[in-house]
Formats: sequence, structure tokens, C-alpha cells
Amino acid sequence: MSIRVGIIGAGPSGMAQLRAFEAARKQGAAMPEITCFEKQSDWGGQWNYSWHTGIDGAGESAHSSMYRHLWSNGPKECLEFADYTFDEHFGRPISSFPPRAVLFDYISGRVEKSDVRKYVRFNTAVRWVNYDEATEVFTVESQNVKTGASETHVFDKLVVSTGHFSVPNIPEFEGINTFPGEIMHAHDFRGAERFAGKDLLMIGSSYSAEDIGMQAHKMGAASVTLSYRSSPMGYDWPSSTVERPLVTLFEGRTAQFSDGTSGEFDAVILCTGYLHKYPFLPSTMTISSSNVLYPGNLYKGVVWQQNTNLFYLGAQDQYYTFNMFDAQAWFARDVMVGKIEIPTAEDRSADISRWLERQNALKGHDEESDFQTDYVRELINATDYPEFDLDSVNALFKDWMRHKSEDILGYRDQTHRSAITGTMSEPHHTRWINAMDDSLERYLNGPSENVNTNAMATLDVEGRLAGHK
Ligand code: FAD
Ligand code: NAP
Repeated sequence: MSIRVGIIGAGPSGMAQLRAFEAARKQGAAMPEITCFEKQSDWGGQWNYSWHTGIDGAGESAHSSMYRHLWSNGPKECLEFADYTFDEHFGRPISSFPPRAVLFDYISGRVEKSDVRKYVRFNTAVRWVNYDEATEVFTVESQNVKTGASETHVFDKLVVSTGHFSVPNIPEFEGINTFPGEIMHAHDFRGAERFAGKDLLMIGSSYSAEDIGMQAHKMGAASVTLSYRSSPMGYDWPSSTVERPLVTLFEGRTAQFSDGTSGEFDAVILCTGYLHKYPFLPSTMTISSSNVLYPGNLYKGVVWQQNTNLFYLGAQDQYYTFNMFDAQAWFARDVMVGKIEIPTAEDRSADISRWLERQNALKGHDEESDFQTDYVRELINATDYPEFDLDSVNALFKDWMRHKSEDILGYRDQTHRSAITGTMSEPHHTRWINAMDDSLERYLNGPSENVNTNAMATLDVEGRLAGHK
């Protein structure tokens, strides 16, 4: 009997798992019985922008934390799939920092070509999972979010790929209930247009604070104040943006900061990160971690230490994304089919400890990038995932971080070379600070309706859009 594999979530990680099995099938391996559960009506996870409030059309809490005018915050050359390049998908060089819709098109294109959609049960949320130690099978309770119909499924292997940037971390601040303006978490932020002319306070000092702050600046916010807990980001901000240490007290519109300064604000956006949350799993199978590069208890960052039939993909904080999820999915696949032998619990534990010790000693972004590069390399070396020049991707991450330090509003205008095809990206037709249309059509066809594009590219875009309808 072929193994029965359940995959929970069809975001980039779950899609990578589908692609990994399909790649093996193409080389003659038997396909397991696969069922992938996706609670939304389409795949793409965070990149599937199909809801506009905190609750989606099916009454479920909206999964994605993305927003209008979200452009990739890292170079696309760092996330490129080794087995499906940007050149293959778009048929011509594109820029290094595309908007969300363009990356959605890219990740969807690969799996559409792989004919794996048939394995996905859309509109189907997993509500509960049990594992029977005696029979070594998982029982998964799912529910169709449209009809309410529930079902039970049985699997030998289970992959959890539900992401960990959806459930907001909401800290308390003294007096915040007296604040009369809008208070939201980054998860609920959908666009900065309405903050034109407003004074904004962002709490947090990581990617969301930086990007939403600069979106607000781009859309004409009067001022942006970034309040940090540990350390300031220290970028060369535009003059309307300042960093302050943590808020200690709200008194109406006024926020007091720990350095004794204060300010008056119209809105507060909590950019305070996300919680690992798996409400469908018993605590014995649940990750409990903050957002780190190596959550504990996962052998090779993928295999649950106490149950090697259980796999997590994408559970790490992420420099690498799509190609790291691939490396993990290929590794998980080979463990599931017995191609990779799992060492003893003691050896696995020692391996986990080695990574955790190295993680604890990391200082700064460059070392973090080295760390995740080595991690991805180790996974790729263990499987037949196509090798690519990880050292040059690592160097690219460092260039990217340097560019951010030099010009926080301009780093997205830089061009980079693909480590896989050697193709140099094209400068985008519009600088990021001026780009007000984040659609796939505008991205590919030029700055205005009248711009002449080359005929092949136009045909290509129209063809692909037609295919998506
Ligand atoms: P997700 O994309 O979160 O997908 C998880 C899937 O699981 C979803 O489709 C969800 O509906 C489904 N699901 C959840 N619970 C259940 C359930 N109980 N039953 C069934 N299905 C379920 N990465 C980049 O490389 N570049 C970027 O520019 C970038 N920008 C980002 C911006 C924001 C605001 C955020 C939050 C993240 C960004 N990321 C970016 C990182 C992003 O997390 C990854 O690119 C990627 O989406 C992670 O894929 P995933 O499949 O692990 O998780
Ligand atoms: P994050 O990287 O986990 O950062 C969370 C931030 O919240 C940290 O600065 C943390 O401070 C702060 N924080 C947590 N608890 C706090 C508290 N009690 N008080 C004050 N501050 C607190 O989360 P994120 O910035 O939301 O990023 C999540 C993911 O989204 C990343 O993968 C990122 O790349 C992605 N993203 C991408 C884009 C894009 O442009 N494409 C935009 C936004 C987000 P400490 O430093 O003190 O821990």
C-alpha cells in the first residue's frame, strides 16, 4: 500500500511539498496518496490577497497579513526556485523587487505546470489532529468552511505548512485604552492611503514596522514614529520619520516614550510580530517558539523530534523563503519514503542542539544570513533538489542589507543577478517610491497604457492572464 500523506496548508510551503512529490513521480517514483487541505479558496498562502477585513468570506479569520502596494522586501534572486526560474516563467528579465501579484503569479505558475492542484481540497480547514501511537496513524478532522460538512481522514505522514505570520502578537501598553484614534496590528493593515496627513506611531522595529512606516510615508503621512523595544533599526529615514524607545504610557492621543520624550498621534499600528499558533494540534505536537531561525524540537528544522511521521515546513524566521521551503519539502519527502534514514533520537537531539548553540551565538544580520545559508545547503546536499550557488545568494543578502542601510527608500530600485540563470535583472520602469500601481499588468507592461512593450512580452502576459481566469 502506498503511504498516505496529509498536508495542511497550500501556501508556498505546502505547494513546495506537492511539487517535491511530483518531481519524484516524474523520475519514476510511486506517488503516495496525497491530500492537501487549504482553508482558503485558492493557494498561495500569504500571497493570496483575496480578503479585505479581518474575517474572510467564509467567516474564518483572514490568513494573510499582506496589503495593497506590498512589494517584495528582499531581492527575488534570493527566493528563486532552483527548478523553475523567473526566466522560465516570465520569458524575459524582470526587476529584482516585484510586487505581490507578480510573485503570486510566479509561485502559482510552477504548480499549475506540475498538475498538482487535484490534490488540494480548497475551502477545507483542518480542525483537529490525533495521533495513535499504537497504529502510527494520524486522524485528521477537516471541515468545509462553505458548507460546514466535516470529514475524517487517516494518514501515515502529516505535514504542517500553515505558516506563522497570521496570528498577531498583541502586547499591552498602559493607558492604551484612552487612545481615541485607530489602533491596529500590522496583520489588519490593508493600505496606507488613509494615513495621508496623519501622525502615525508604529510599535516594533522589524520588517513590518519598516515597510508599513515607509508605505505611510509614500502615501503622504505627516509623520511616522517608530518605537522600539530592543534596538532601533537605524536607517537613514526620511525627515518625517523618527525612532524612539518603547512607549511607557498613553494618555489620550499622547504617547510617552522611555527616553522622556512624547508625541501626539492619530493612529497606532502594532508591528509587534506574530505567534506560532496551531489550534488543530494537541500540545504534544505543537511548536512553541518565538520567531527564530531555528525553532527547537525539529530535526533539520523539519522533523518533529518526538514523532518522525510529523513534519513542519516554513516554521523558521526567514531570510530564504521559497527555495528554503523547497529544500525542506524535498528533505521531508525523502524521509517519508525512506530514502533518507532518520538517525536515533539521541543523534537527532545532538544535531538540534548544535544548531541551537550556533543560533544563540549569532550576532547581526550577516551571521544570521550565513546561518540560514548553511542550513539550506545541508538540506539540499541531502536530496536531489537542484544545487545552486548558495554563496552568491548569501552575498546577495548582504548586499541587500547594505543597500537598505544606504537608502531605505531606494533599495528596491537596485538590480541583482540570478544565482541560477546568471540573468541580470532589469531596472523597473518606475522607482518604488513613485510606483502607485502594483498590478501584474502595469508591472509587466510599462508605466502607462501608451508605453510600447515588446510584442512577445505582451503576448506572454495576456496569455497567462487568460489562463488564470
Ligand atoms: P503561508 O504563506 O502563511 O501559507 C499557509 C497556508 O496554510 C495558507 O494558505 C492558509 O490559508 C493555510 N492554513 C492555515 N491554517 C489552516 C488550517 N487549519 N487548515 C487548512 N489550511 C490552513 N517572503 C518573501 O520571500 N518576500 C516577501 O516580500 C515577503 N513579504 C511578506 C510580507 C508579509 C506581511 C508577511 C506576513 C510575510 C512575508 N513574507 C515574504 C514571508 C512569507 O511568510 C513567505 O513568503 C510564505 O508565504 C510562507 O509560506 P507558508 O506556506 O509557510 O505559509
Ligand atoms: P518580526 O520580524 O517577528 O518582528 C517583530 C517585532 O515586534 C520586533 O521588532 C520585536 O521587537 C517587536 N515586539 C514584539 N513584542 C513586542 C513588545 N511587547 N513590545 C514592543 N515590541 C515588540 O515580525 P514582522 O516585522 O511582522 O515580520 C514578519 C514577517 O513579515 C517577516 O518575514 C517579514 O519579512 C515579513 N514582511 C515583509 C514585508 C514586505 O515588505 N514584503 C513587509 C512586512 C513584513 P524585538 O526586536 O525587541 O524582539
